[in-house]
Amino acid sequence: MTTSQQLFDLAQRHIPGGVNSPVRAFKGLDRAPVFIERAKGAYLYDVEGKRYIDYVGSWGPMITGHADADVLAAVRERLDDGLSFGTPTAIETTMADLICEIMPSVEMVRMVNSGTEATMSAIRLARGFTGRDAIVKFEGCYHGHADSLLVKAGSGALTHGEPSSPGVPASLAEHTLTLSYNDIDAVRELFAARGGEIACIIVEPVAGNMNCIPPLPGFLETLREVCDASGAVLIFDEVMTGFRVALGGAQAHYGITPDLTCLGKIVGGGMPVGAFGGKREIMSRISPLGPVYQAGTLSGNPLAMAAGITLLGKVRAEGFHAALSARAAELCEGLERLAREAGIALLTHQVGGMFGLFFTDQPAVDDFAAATACDTERFRRFFSLMLDQGVYLAPSNYEAGFISSAHGDAEISATLQAAAKAFAAL
Ligand code: PMP
Repeated sequence: MTTSQQLFDLAQRHIPGGVNSPVRAFKGLDRAPVFIERAKGAYLYDVEGKRYIDYVGSWGPMITGHADADVLAAVRERLDDGLSFGTPTAIETTMADLICEIMPSVEMVRMVNSGTEATMSAIRLARGFTGRDAIVKFEGCYHGHADSLLVKAGSGALTHGEPSSPGVPASLAEHTLTLSYNDIDAVRELFAARGGEIACIIVEPVAGNMNCIPPLPGFLETLREVCDASGAVLIFDEVMTGFRVALGGAQAHYGITPDLTCLGKIVGGGMPVGAFGGKREIMSRISPLGPVYQAGTLSGNPLAMAAGITLLGKVRAEGFHAALSARAAELCEGLERLAREAGIALLTHQVGGMFGLFFTDQPAVDDFAAATACDTERFRRFFSLMLDQGVYLAPSNYEAGFISSAHGDAEISATLQAAAKAFAAL
């Protein structure tokens, strides 16, 4: 039998860090990442034959569980017709119509191949539409790895951003203004001082890349208000939250309408897909209708469209999100109760099918500073203890957890049993 460790050693010869996306490497966890061979429903199966209850779900897309039979059948059905044509296909219109119907703020939509492409393109469009260069993002929000978005805060709220990765020119990063998530006063202050220079605000309407942090009441409302007053474009990055926290995404859940929305993950059913869309007036500026350039050889790929359309059709079922949310709540409440009984300080957040676990005795975790003040070492030990017992959590305490409709009573109760043992061991 080949072990994950052996495969990881081999992988590192020709793949940087042995992985094609950094968080998969289990950095800081003192163990090799688990190499997965196959998955079905709520379960992952590794190369050593071990089974795990999965709370990562390929980082979001697998909302009806892995290897969904309907999604696979839809892909299979199209397979023999060819993989890509580089021409328009009818199925792209089906997808666009479906997204616009589910998310009424999206009047026109363009398909891309990843969440990164969606946010990068939306920002270019917002800049092209407004003729302004500055953008606003929030500390701890991740919007993919486009240059303008790999930026951290400068030394004060109103100072220019600094690159958070070598390779991002400082002259570009200075156009990205970074504020603290949920800090309504800072948003108002910035827009009062510089509103006329700002092309857009981009925000995760529920932050899922610094663990899971929901917006405080009034935060998203304030973003809408300052954008309306200044003419800036409000972009909701719903790559993670779209079709997950509610069918219509966070914008439906909180009742705030963005100008542009970025999508990914679920919209591709597990295939490499992203999308961005929104107001017709803004989207009409995209090439070939308008002058803002954006393109993609494989965009709107027929197999990817088939997978995404089928999955979206399934999550539209009556009661789907209520059931998903109830499941996630049951998990979080169970974990909090068991932690309390074991004398472990644990706080949880949950919105729809997304959740977060914080090892902290802080009364609330509403921003990046509070998220980074949590006990990372305790999280690492908890993660390892859970993994050993066959529960696969996100391998970082800065990632949200994802649940699927394939997680039933048996999976939740097995997870809680494992957690009780892990809390005792902590
Ligand atoms: N936006 C958000 C909110 C995300 O969570 C992610 C990825 N996790 C992205 C954008 C980037 O998507 P991708 O990895 O598909 O490029």
